[in-house]
Amino acid sequence: MVKEILLGIAIAFTIFAALLGINVAPVVFLIGAFLLLSYIMENKGFYKTGKSIINPSSEVSFEDIGGQNTAISELKEALDFVVNREKIAQMGIRPIKGILLVGPPGTGKTLLAKAAAKYTNSSFIATSGSEFIEMYAGVGAQRVRHLFERARNLAKKEGKNSAIIFIDEIDILGTKRGAHESHHEYDQTLNQLLVEMDGIKEEEEVNILVIGATNRPDLLDPALLRPGRFDRQVLVDLPDKNGRLQILKIHTKNKPLGEDVNLEEIAESTFGFSGAHLENLCNEAAILALREGSSFISQRHFKEAIDKVILGERIDRKPSEEEIYRIAVHEAGHAIVGEKINPGSVAVVTIVPRGRALGFVRQKEKDDLLIYTKEELEKNIMVALGGTVAEVLLLGGRSTGSANDFEQAVDIAKKIVFTGLSNLGVVSKEDISKEKVSDEINRIVKDLEEEVTKILKENIEKLKEVAEILKREETISGDKLREILSRKGVLEEVSA
Ligand code: ATP
Repeated sequence: MVKEILLGIAIAFTIFAALLGINVAPVVFLIGAFLLLSYIMENKGFYKTGKSIINPSSEVSFEDIGGQNTAISELKEALDFVVNREKIAQMGIRPIKGILLVGPPGTGKTLLAKAAAKYTNSSFIATSGSEFIEMYAGVGAQRVRHLFERARNLAKKEGKNSAIIFIDEIDILGTKRGAHESHHEYDQTLNQLLVEMDGIKEEEEVNILVIGATNRPDLLDPALLRPGRFDRQVLVDLPDKNGRLQILKIHTKNKPLGEDVNLEEIAESTFGFSGAHLENLCNEAAILALREGSSFISQRHFKEAIDKVILGERIDRKPSEEEIYRIAVHEAGHAIVGEKINPGSVAVVTIVPRGRALGFVRQKEKDDLLIYTKEELEKNIMVALGGTVAEVLLLGGRSTGSANDFEQAVDIAKKIVFTGLSNLGVVSKEDISKEKVSDEINRIVKDLEEEVTKILKENIEKLKEVAEILKREETISGDKLREILSRKGVLEEVSA
């Protein structure tokens, strides 16, 4: 608007000057150059995040996403704040502004964001963190401003009262400030994102929700994770066997399948595959069938396609049967010890890899304690030791898979010693000899290892059962684990 008024005044002056007989050629040239430059800036996408902005009238719904039931229900819970906007406003609750989807590539984060747009009847605009990084100072910040503006305009045009902005690879733009060499430009861009998010108000005509996706939440600037910004995190893990089956069903819905096709078998043989890998697999199988001139896809085509996808996408080597069993025993050990000493604490136990971990036990969301008692610290050490003790009991020896657990156990034991909770009593960190500390740590860990061994020996049949189920199903929910543990074994039934 201001630009237009200034331009009008300039043109009026030029005409006036021309009428007075003054040479206006340089002024006309300058105005022309100014107009051309601003046209390029505005329309040729200098400030826009280029090609990757997509705006499909989002037709993906949660039913089109397989193997992410937990992520979907957590996401829906957060989105209900957007859906029930009026109720939320009545209660004086601040609007939810940002949700972070955390997980490896190709697990369906973009799909989840699109489905979120459909679920909340919002306009959808998507971009990637890399689109904001330019060598020209200030451009990234301008692009962020533009993005929010575009989202608001789009929603108005589509007659909607909310818009979802999806930023993939948000870690590129949201890295801790000062971490980059050309940090000034990065920092300005991130600052602008924070400013825009802080500017989101409940009473606005268009409600904006930003959904970010990353595999590295640890790289993000803490300011981004503060309440009122990306304060909700939803984990989007690799799918387990059941999840893979669901995804395979989704991606073969529109394909002619031969009678011999057994998707369960394919799901079993695709350990470590993401949703994107599975989509690719179905596509490759169809291509192989077409090349052969077949009018339907056979099991053989799927099997051949698995090898092709593994080679082409460099998927991590699938662990051998023995390795998988060892991982299952290890995780079952953590889970059973966890459940026995803190009943109701296990949310899920799985052998599906996440990051560098070959499997993991997720504890139920528990607030971090400010102070720990000695008993709580000891319980944490016991859970950490559960994996290795289970390996010893069922497989007769330890493995390198326990290295992290030992590190964790030693760290906690150190805490016990230096906070004066060990048998050494209160100690001075500066004066006590390393040897003494090391002996005490060894004693603490050894004593607790004995207790863990006792717990697992008493539950050895359950340990075998849980490990077998884990090997077969890859994931066991906390409820199922509790059900198995509370079921009476044959011996117990006889003696009861
Ligand atoms: P990136 O982090 O690499 O952007 P992403 O997690 O956003 O990946 P998507 O772009 O959502 O992954 O997935 C890519 C494609 O893989 C989808 O278009 C879809 O075909 C398939 N896909 C991925 N996950 C799933 C899933 N859970 N269910 C069904 N299809 C999936």
